[in-house]
Amino acid sequence: MTPGDKLKAPEPKRGDLVATMPARADRIIGFLNTRDIDQGQDVLKAPAGFDAWLRQERAFTGPSPSEEETEAARVLREGFRDVVAWHGQGDAPPAQELDRLNASLVQYPVPFVVSPDGFLDQPQPARTVADALGALVADVALCQASPAWARVKVCQNPACRWAYYDGSHSATQKWCSMAACGNRMKARRHRARRRSVSVNMDQKER
Ligand SMILES: [Zn+2]
Repeated sequence: MTPGDKLKAPEPKRGDLVATMPARADRIIGFLNTRDIDQGQDVLKAPAGFDAWLRQERAFTGPSPSEEETEAARVLREGFRDVVAWHGQGDAPPAQELDRLNASLVQYPVPFVVSPDGFLDQPQPARTVADALGALVADVALCQASPAWARVKVCQNPACRWAYYDGSHSATQKWCSMAACGNRMKARRHRARRRSVSVNMDQKER
């Protein structure tokens, strides 16, 4: 190894480690990203997609979800997206959106069992759709009580809103990716600034 190689790949130091995503945050982000707003795709659009997702991602073993359960899951998901965006950007969602989320949350009692090490844990696998989504509600509540929550974010590009884990050292990332959304948002702001500058110039000329 040459000294140059060493510079490119420094040994991580304690306290200098970029945060790794805990499983709980991973599950929340996975649920939010069943909808790709940018691409106009939604895994939970129909019960078949929701069913496949539950079995593959949540080791679900119960009967297939109904149309109503699928619609309710979409409501819960978008409510959670608002909650994640809220703590990232400081804007509270409209009161009617919060009412909608609260009405959704009462449908999902949080299931817990005592694990062999004496901690409360979620029963695996979930056998009803309500239990599977109740476990996700627990994931959000428990994640909110941990330092990881500050790193669970949705992209600030309103046309994207993709969920991601900000593993950067400073935890100040605003977009799912600088290349895809960061530059787009910067270009948009730049154009807006130029527009306002040219409007001011026009007004001065008049
Ligand atoms: Zn984005």
